[in-house]
Amino acid sequence: MEHRVAVFPGDGIGVEIMEQAKKVIYKVNEITDVKLNLREGLAGGASIDKYGVPLTDENLQLAINSDAVLLGAVGGPKWEPLDYSIRPERALLTLRKELGLFANLRPAKVFPQLVDASTLKAEMVKDIDLIVVRELTGGLYFAQPKGVTTLEDGRRKGVNTLAYTEDEIERIARKAFEIATQRRKKVTNVDKANVLEATELWRDVVVEVHKDFPEVELNHMYVDNCAMQLVRYPAQFDVIVTCNMFGDVLSDEASMLTGSIGMLPSASLGEKGGMYEPAHGSAPDIAGQDKANPIATILSVAMMYRYTFKEGKIADAIEKAVEKTLEEGYRTPDIFTQGTTQVGTGKMGDIIAEKTAEILKNN
Ligand code: NAD
Repeated sequence: MEHRVAVFPGDGIGVEIMEQAKKVIYKVNEITDVKLNLREGLAGGASIDKYGVPLTDENLQLAINSDAVLLGAVGGPKWEPLDYSIRPERALLTLRKELGLFANLRPAKVFPQLVDASTLKAEMVKDIDLIVVRELTGGLYFAQPKGVTTLEDGRRKGVNTLAYTEDEIERIARKAFEIATQRRKKVTNVDKANVLEATELWRDVVVEVHKDFPEVELNHMYVDNCAMQLVRYPAQFDVIVTCNMFGDVLSDEASMLTGSIGMLPSASLGEKGGMYEPAHGSAPDIAGQDKANPIATILSVAMMYRYTFKEGKIADAIEKAVEKTLEEGYRTPDIFTQGTTQVGTGKMGDIIAEKTAEILKNN
């Protein structure tokens, strides 16, 4: 089966880490009958330098006409003086909007070999394997009315609105339950239904959608309690589903439990397709030095196989390859500790690609 994937390496370390992700994909192409046809484009600063805009219509079409998008990272000091309307980050916002990506997935998983990287005690983080499913296109960040106005007496008033329609809630709830069926089958719905009416509706709709997924266990948690539980006993969570604002905060909190930014993948999903990217930025401080950790991007590739192409076995193989690589002691500088073997970006990519191939061949 062949799928089309638009690849935007972007800026800074984006270029180097995408090279490593491609090594893994080429191995999968070679060994399995799931063939990804990679079509490369420019986004972010790289596009500004060539075309004067962060994303051309042509590159947007490339993304729209693909089954999935793989993105490195965009941005850097070179483009910071530019106006917001043409900054590199605009490319991401345009892609999210035009591809209708309403669900943001941020997994937080602690690899046993890296438990000491967390700021929490090892016995507390060793079993963390959760995913935050955040609503991405509605709620407090987008609903109207919004803005700052001046009242008749001259005082200024700032307004944002927390509003969700049933269909907006239903589609994100459905995504969360679908994801849970591919995992440990547990969804924690996070809201503030005791205070916010909009999230009372949110809870009602989640309960309604749950009827279609009887094999998944559902529980509810208020957001303040969830923030506390994430640092008290994070292993209790499998899938957390929540609105845009709560998800923004909780996904950062959850990911930091793992302690290493170079290891964190992410996905944004729409009705069809999706965009996959590491959770980190373009790291201009280490760009071009063969120091960047490519694992977040490689794990984003695994998510792409799992969630867009429904190829769980390939995703498992890639994740297992990362785990084996860490088990054998290979580390990029960001996760290096005494007694392990330091390798550069390119070498790390080679090792993980080789191990992915080995695992796929032995399956
Ligand atoms: P950053 O994530 O790029 O870097 C933060 C720190 O983490 C740096 O010290 C960096 O060296 C390190 N780091 C990040 N990724 C790493 C990796 N894979 N391996 C090893 N170390 C890694 O965040 P920042 O410095 O705040 O932002 C830099 C640029 O990236 C800015 O222009 C920002 O706008 C942009 N940015 C882009 C995205 C994106 O493309 N999705 C996300 C965040 C920031």
